[in-house]
Amino acid sequence: MSRSLLSLVVPFYNEEEAIPGFFAQVVPALEAIAEIDFEIVCVNDGSKDRTLTLLAEAAEADDRVLVVDLSRNFGKEAAMSAGLAEAQGHVVVPFDADLQDPPEVIAKLVEKWREGYDVVLARRSDRSSDSYLKRQSALGFYRLHNKLAEVKIPENVGDFRLMTREVVNVLNALPESRRFMKGLFAWVGYRTAEVTYVRHSRCAGKTKFSGWRLWNFALEGITSFSTLPLRMWTYFGLLVAATSFLYAAYLVIRTLVHGIEVPGYASIFVSLLFFSGVQMIGIGVIGEYVGRIYIESKRRPLYVVRRRYGKSQQ
Ligand code: UDP
Ligand code: MG
Repeated sequence: MSRSLLSLVVPFYNEEEAIPGFFAQVVPALEAIAEIDFEIVCVNDGSKDRTLTLLAEAAEADDRVLVVDLSRNFGKEAAMSAGLAEAQGHVVVPFDADLQDPPEVIAKLVEKWREGYDVVLARRSDRSSDSYLKRQSALGFYRLHNKLAEVKIPENVGDFRLMTREVVNVLNALPESRRFMKGLFAWVGYRTAEVTYVRHSRCAGKTKFSGWRLWNFALEGITSFSTLPLRMWTYFGLLVAATSFLYAAYLVIRTLVHGIEVPGYASIFVSLLFFSGVQMIGIGVIGEYVGRIYIESKRRPLYVVRRRYGKSQQ
């Protein structure tokens, strides 16, 4: 049996503190996997610290390390797409730079893949390394997303997983420029297995995802994979129209019975405010999707590669 090539795809954004520990742990863990050659595709996502210098040094020292330097910060999803496009491996594993996912789990993913699966998910057995607020909001997001969207994303599964070349080729060929990776990963399907593991806290540095960024990420996810928020307004409009019809009928009858009454400003005012609010929400939701259409229609590339470092580049 010929040895298979495994590509570890790692986005780096201001991770200078994590880099020394990263290579020190990941390289031995990958070397320990039997019958596997590997490459580590590091994507520098426009870091402002010494990340690029450290990565370039690592590529210099070890020709299994490749570095793709993006021209600015494009965000994790784009950086991941860049890494997936550059990866040469028969199997590809997206991985975080902060070692929250223990590198030893990669061997377990490979084991499952050898049983004949195309995708092996790594599911966190608990999220105790996340704050209470993050856990609750993540739970809420998965519930809502999976209610609305046709493509369900598995709970407590991050980007960390193993995919075969076939699956990665499908992902690379997807045309959209706004990429919600978790959703796209789920969308491609294929024979899927799972292993569970315990996720640690960050080894060094801080998270790059603030509450506001996560909120936008959640909106991105839902609007990428569901049009229910748009369709909902049709039903809501029908409901309001039907109710107003009943109310009109009631008013006619009341006028016939009691004659015309002047009071009623308060109720008119309240309903006026309520319905203008509702209309604005509706317009906001439409705007969200029109915005997406606008961005997709520009057909800009997902990312720009400034330079590559590593074996084939010399
Ligand atoms: N990351 C990136 N670009 C960004 C933000 C994050 O490439 O704009 C990388 C980051 O360096 C790390 C991974 O994405 O390797 C996950 O980020 P982080 O650990 O901050 O996210 P969390 O684990 O807190 O969700
Ligand atoms: Mg992290």
